[in-house]
Amino acid sequence: MLLAKPLLWTPEKGLFVFVGSMMKTIGLIGGMSWESSLEYYRLINQAVKARLGGLHSAQSLMYSVDFAQIEAFQQQGRWAEAAALLAEAAQRLEHGGAACVVLCTNTMHKVADMIQAQITIPLLHIADPTATAVRHTGITTVGLLGTRFTMEHDFYKGRLEQNYGLKVIVPAAADRETIHRIIYTELCLGEIKASSKQLYIAAIQRLIAAGAQGIILGCTEIGLLIQSGDSQVPLFDTTRLHALAAVDYVLDEAE
Ligand code: GLU
Repeated sequence: MLLAKPLLWTPEKGLFVFVGSMMKTIGLIGGMSWESSLEYYRLINQAVKARLGGLHSAQSLMYSVDFAQIEAFQQQGRWAEAAALLAEAAQRLEHGGAACVVLCTNTMHKVADMIQAQITIPLLHIADPTATAVRHTGITTVGLLGTRFTMEHDFYKGRLEQNYGLKVIVPAAADRETIHRIIYTELCLGEIKASSKQLYIAAIQRLIAAGAQGIILGCTEIGLLIQSGDSQVPLFDTTRLHALAAVDYVLDEAE
């Protein structure tokens, strides 16, 4: 891996000198959707600036895929083909010098293990910093919003429950359908509607009534629609938590 500090020729001294402290590179697989990839880019750079100050910004690479192709694979249940495409993206990031891979979507973590198997750098799983943040607050029962794949399949809930001992509750079928539809037909297209916000708030209230002490925004676009003032219980925005975990990873490793 390219971790050595770069050497710079200084003609005035007639010497090669080591330049600066070289930050490790964050590798991002984006495009799912690019609306949320923009948020990752902003949050990661803001966090590096907050940590290091001045003109510091994140050293990063993003490989952005065509979401139409990924979405078609999802609809058709062709997860292995989606995994192969994303694993190739991860390999390109590794070959480009990335120290870790950040898959900028909750849903496609369904194939996280298949991607990890094709690279030697770590894939930072989005559910891990999320569960850690939930546990940190003392909350034990949490509501989960996301695509129907995230809410209904086991790859996400299972990890939260088995690895972190959380009780995860999901909305009833009608709310799941609404939440899923709004993600693909509005949020991933950059459409933020007040009427949809009300539908999400109503679903959150029903989860709270069912016992949720906190709500995981388990889709990387939901933070574009719902913010902390929209809920009586704490919200856990996976985009933000994942982006900050990536910054911690590269800075803590480098420092
Ligand atoms: N960004 C979304 C998520 O976090 C949905 C898009 C996708 O299917 O990847 O799950």
